[in-house]
Amino acid sequence: MTKANNVTEEGFFGEFGGVYVPEQLEKVLARLERSFQQFKDDPGFLKEYEEYLQEYVGRPNPLTYAERLTRKLGGARIYLKREDLNHTGAHKINNVIGQILLARKMGAHRVIAETGAGQHGVATATACAMMNMECVIYMGKEDIRRQELNVFRMELLGARVVSVENGGGRLKDAVDEALNDFVENYETTFYLLGSAVGPHPYPSIVHHFQAVISKESRQQILEKEGRLPDAVIACVGGGSNAIGAFSHYIEDKTTRLIGVEPLEAATMTQGTAAVLHGFRSLCLQDEKGNPLPTESIAAGLDYPGVGPEHSMLKQASRAEYVTVTKQEVLHAFQELSRTEGIIPALESAHAIAHTMKIASGMEENAVLVVNLSGRGDKDVAEVKKLTNH
Ligand SMILES: *Cc1c(COP(=O)(O)O)cnc(C)c1O
Repeated sequence: MTKANNVTEEGFFGEFGGVYVPEQLEKVLARLERSFQQFKDDPGFLKEYEEYLQEYVGRPNPLTYAERLTRKLGGARIYLKREDLNHTGAHKINNVIGQILLARKMGAHRVIAETGAGQHGVATATACAMMNMECVIYMGKEDIRRQELNVFRMELLGARVVSVENGGGRLKDAVDEALNDFVENYETTFYLLGSAVGPHPYPSIVHHFQAVISKESRQQILEKEGRLPDAVIACVGGGSNAIGAFSHYIEDKTTRLIGVEPLEAATMTQGTAAVLHGFRSLCLQDEKGNPLPTESIAAGLDYPGVGPEHSMLKQASRAEYVTVTKQEVLHAFQELSRTEGIIPALESAHAIAHTMKIASGMEENAVLVVNLSGRGDKDVAEVKKLTNH
């Protein structure tokens, strides 16, 4: 869990990352950084974290050999890291558990978070219920309207969902409100951030708690194949499941690291450097520097920015980033369901889609590890609509 991630003391990954926030918030983040450094490798803290992962999340989850898909494509052997089997159905809970334990160590009894489609809000509300913490979720008015069921889910779990009416009533406005709350109430309140984005130290915190994915998969593939994979493939929204899936392979130069984005939100492949939401990274922007609207069928990938560590990994040519189309994603969604009996989240179907493109061109003894970041139950109604059933 302690993989160093090449970050400077000021929170830079190469030229990316950093802390671009008002002075008041800077102080609050510095306090968070001190606590994170104090506890991140503390044996007692890690023991508690690992116990929750085992007893509540259900880790370690399997690395499943996708035998039928492999045979059908006729090339590399495909393994699926099963984050879809975690409690709440995705990788987000790994980070939420870690941050909530850190919150408790810092003496916070109130947790706040922002959410767009609601997935991070639900994961946060889940862990708050279990830990008996007060939970406030900021959500744009427009997102609340579109994600009624997730709002109800959060309320069932005991969270208060605050409708943000400012601006466009979207994710960005919810982030602003949550940050204001954090600055005002930092002594009692912890801001639980959901992806590998945001000002330092959040990208490092999220990396730390998601690294469990590759810690497990590396051991599992060595047991099953006796060798490291030729490539690890993960979808990229803000970049948390991908950084977790890559982390323990970064020093293994023979393993390619491949991040997959929607063509409609291709931050890594088409973005340029900019400061957005308090940190510097690649970003989709217009000539005036405003973030461009994105429009992915996977709500979790619908973000014009990306975690700073991915920008560095790209610039250093350590990781590659590619895009897939909506049609390829829908095809992959159906194909994995039919061949393996696993309905993937639409986000994860991006990683499957790219895998399907490259596996058949590889040798039969090649090995691919694909991060199945979440399950697709949440997406079946949407796919039904999109495929005209
Ligand atoms: C939220 C989400 C993502 C995208 O977020 P990252 O931070 O890029 O991992 C991907 N897959 C699933 C299932 C999600 O819920």
